[in-house]
Amino acid sequence: MTEDTLIKAAIAAMPNAYAPYSQFLVGAAICDENGNIHTGVNVENAAYPQGSCAEAGAIAAMIMAGGTRIHQIAIAGRGGNLCTPCGGCRQRMREFANPDTPILIADENGLRQRFTLDELLPHSFGPNHLDKPDHLDK
Ligand SMILES: [Zn+2]
Repeated sequence: MTEDTLIKAAIAAMPNAYAPYSQFLVGAAICDENGNIHTGVNVENAAYPQGSCAEAGAIAAMIMAGGTRIHQIAIAGRGGNLCTPCGGCRQRMREFANPDTPILIADENGLRQRFTLDELLPHSFGPNHLDKPDHLDK
């Protein structure tokens, strides 16, 4: 799985976002431990707090398909600012990723910046705080 393939999957997902209120389309694509890609988009709601992020959708798709680990993730969104994951999604990814897991931030033209999870969520709280290994058995 190349970075470019994963980024293209995130960009391809963007038009499927449901964002009638913000018009801010986001696509996310996860490559799991088996090399399978799982995508998600943001889904807004008229009751604003009920909306969900693209990363959350991609994680749910990964779990549904039997994947358990985020090998790398690409997130694509437009705008002058980097479309970095929100705080909640950084924690969501923490559950299934390692500190050095690549997080690729893109826009419709391709990669803009590469981070690791630890760079975006340093000193994080995770399964090990509850005496569970980072890679939980089902
Ligand atoms: Zn989020």
